[in-house]
Amino acid sequence: AAIPPPPIHTVNSVCCYCGTGCGVQVRTQGERVIDVAGDAAHPSSHGRLCSKGMNLAATVRRDASRVLTAQLRRNRQEERRPIALHSALSAAARRLAQTLRQHGPQAIGLYLSGQLLTEDYAVFNKLARALIGTNNIDTNSRLCMSSAVSGYVRTLGADAPPACYEDLEHAKMVFIAGSNMAYAHPVLFRRLEAAKARDPAMKIVVVDPRRTDTCEIADLHLQITAGTDVALMHAMLNVLIWEGLVDHGYIVRHTEGFEALKRRVHEYTPRAAQEICGVPADDIVRCARWFGSCGPALSLYTMGLNQSSSGTAKNAALIHLHLATGQIGKPGAGPFSLTGQPNAMGGGREAGGMATLLPGHRDPANAEHRAEVAAAWGMDSLPETPGLTAVELFDATLAGKVKVLWIAGTNPAQSLPNQAKVRAALQRAEFVIVQEAYAHTETLEYADLVLPAATWPEKDGTMTNSERRISRVRAALRPPGDARPDWQLACGVARRLAAEIAPAKAALFRYRSAAEIFIEHAGLTQGRDLDYSALSHALLDSAGPQQWPYAPLGAARPRLYADGVFPTPDGRARFMDIGYEPVAERPTARRPLRLTTGRLRDQWHTMSRTGLVPQLTRHAEEPCIHLHPDDMKRLAIAAGQLAEVESGRGRLVAPAQPDAALKPGHAYMPMHWGSGYMAGDGVNALGNDAVDPLSHQPELKHSAVSVRPLAWQ
Ligand code: SF4
Repeated sequence: AAIPPPPIHTVNSVCCYCGTGCGVQVRTQGERVIDVAGDAAHPSSHGRLCSKGMNLAATVRRDASRVLTAQLRRNRQEERRPIALHSALSAAARRLAQTLRQHGPQAIGLYLSGQLLTEDYAVFNKLARALIGTNNIDTNSRLCMSSAVSGYVRTLGADAPPACYEDLEHAKMVFIAGSNMAYAHPVLFRRLEAAKARDPAMKIVVVDPRRTDTCEIADLHLQITAGTDVALMHAMLNVLIWEGLVDHGYIVRHTEGFEALKRRVHEYTPRAAQEICGVPADDIVRCARWFGSCGPALSLYTMGLNQSSSGTAKNAALIHLHLATGQIGKPGAGPFSLTGQPNAMGGGREAGGMATLLPGHRDPANAEHRAEVAAAWGMDSLPETPGLTAVELFDATLAGKVKVLWIAGTNPAQSLPNQAKVRAALQRAEFVIVQEAYAHTETLEYADLVLPAATWPEKDGTMTNSERRISRVRAALRPPGDARPDWQLACGVARRLAAEIAPAKAALFRYRSAAEIFIEHAGLTQGRDLDYSALSHALLDSAGPQQWPYAPLGAARPRLYADGVFPTPDGRARFMDIGYEPVAERPTARRPLRLTTGRLRDQWHTMSRTGLVPQLTRHAEEPCIHLHPDDMKRLAIAAGQLAEVESGRGRLVAPAQPDAALKPGHAYMPMHWGSGYMAGDGVNALGNDAVDPLSHQPELKHSAVSVRPLAWQ
C-alpha cells in the first residue's frame, strides 16, 4: 500500500529579520517547510509581510549550506575535521578552563547576535558573568542600537521606546531621521503610507543624505550632510523656542536642564545650521513649525542616528524636541527608535547581553544591581571589572589580551568596521569558537572550533520587537544533523566547564526547556521599568504576544510616560547640554567623498540567509558604488565603469552607478557584500571604527574615501 504523505502542521512564530517583528505562520510537512504566510492575528503586523518575510520558506536548508556537525582543528596548519558534538562541547570547555587558569577571566570574550533568542542570551550572559567571571560579553547589537539605548537612558531615564506602532495612525507629523524604513522596516512603512493616504494633512519629513524610497511619501526631504544631525535638531529647537512653540508648562513640570540647552541652541540658528548641514534654512524652519504645530509628532529613527561617533548626542537632540513640546506619552507622539534586528531589544537590552548592561536594564557598574543579579543566580557576587564592548573586544584580542573568542550567530569578519584589524584580531586569538548555522560565513574561516547551531525555524523561545512586544518563536522543524539551539550548546559547554573549575555551578545550567529559562529571565525584570515577571511561555501561548511592562491585572501600556513621570530619581526627564561634534573623519583633499552605507530592500545583514534565495538577489545583483552624476563627471568615471574606493582602512573595486538621489560629495554602498563578492575588501572593511564615547557604537555611517576610475580599463 502507498505510504500516506506526512500530515501538514501549522506553527505560529515570528519573522527572523528586522525589528518590526511580524507574525508568521509556518506550514510544514515532514521535515520540509511548505510555505510561510503572515499571521493575521499578530497584533504588530496583522498578517502583513515584506519580500524578505514572504521568501522565508526558501531560506530553510538542511543541505551543505548548513553547518551540520561540529568541527575542530588541532592547529592552524590543519583543516578542521568533523567531530562528535559531545567531544566538541568538551573541547570548548577544556580550552576555556585552561585559559582561565593561565590568564584569568579577562582573557575570554563572547560576541553574540541580535538574531539570537532572549533565552539564548540569558544562558550566555549567566555563563560569562557567573561561571567564567567576565563582563566581556557583547553583541552585534552594539553596531545597531546602543546609541538608542544610551540616548533613552540619559534623557528619559530608561531604555524604553515610549511609543507603539498604532501611533503611526495617530500622528499628524512624522519625522523620520536616519532611516530608510521603506527598505529596512517595510511593513511599518506600508502602514505609514496607508495612514498618510487616509489623512493627507499628515506631514512627513525625511532627514537623509540620500533621496531614498522612504522619501516617496515625504512632504519634505531634508538632504542633510551625513553626520550633522545634532546641528539640524538644535536649529529646530531654536525655531521652536523663538516661535513660542515649546510647551513651557510641560518643561517646568516634567523636565530638568532646559535652560542650559536653551542657551546652547541659541547659536544654532537656521542659517548657522544651513552652513553645517547643507539644508536650506527655510526648510529647517518649515520642519520645526510642523513639528510644533501640526498635532501629535512622532519621530522614527534608526541607524543614521545610531551608527555615529556622536550617536548618543543625535538621539538626545531628537528626544529634546519631544520633551520641549510635550510630544511624548500620548497617541501619535513620541521618539520611537526602530530596532534593526529581530531581537536586539530582548537579548542585548532586556536580558543584558551587552558589556554595559545586566539583565532587567541593570548597570554592571552599579554594585546594588550586580548584587541583585548575583542573588537571583544563587551567586555571592558578579565580576566588577568593566567588560569590553564590540570594537574594544577585537582591539583587545589584537593586542593579545583576549585569548579565546566565542562568537555566536554573527559574522564579525564581514560586519564590523575596519576589517583589516578585525581579521588580524581573529588570527591573533589563540582559540576561536564559532557557533553558527550557515556554512559559508567569512568568520568561519577563522574558527578553530565550530559548534553547529539550529536556526529559524528550528528554535523555541521569545523575541521582543521595536514596540516592546514579546512574541513566541516556535520550532516548526527539528534541527538538522547535530545542530542544536544556541542555549543548549551554551549549556553543554557551561556544565562541562563547571565540572573543571567549579562543580557546584553546573546546577546553574540544568535547564530542561527554553520555557524554564524564560521564567528565570523574566523574574529578573521584577520591579524594574520593563517588568514582565508575570509572563511565561504558557501565558504567551494562551494570550498571544504581549507588550512590556506587563501587569497581569493592570491595563496594557502601549505608550509610556503618559503621566509625565519618568524613571529617573526625581521622576523628571533630562535635557542633555550637548553640542554638535563633527564626524570622526572629515573629508580631505586625498579622500574628499563621504561614504555612507545602508540596507537593500531584499537583503539582510551579510546575506548568510537571504543570499541563498535567487528571488531576493534580483532586486540588486551586485554591489555598486553610488555617486552623484556631478561627482562622476568631476572624477571622470563613466556609468558602469569599475572604480576603486579607498578609505585608508581598506579598498574595494565596484561598478560605479550614477545616483542623482545622493547629495553631491557623498558616496553610498549597500552594506551587505563581503570580500567574497568583489575585488578587494568588503564594504564594511572601509568603515570607521571610531566609537561614540557614551554608547561605544562605531561610526559605520561615515568614512572619508577616495573614488577613482580603474586605470587599466
Ligand atoms: Fe520580516 Fe521585518 Fe519584513 Fe516584517 S518587515 S516580514 S519582520 S523583514
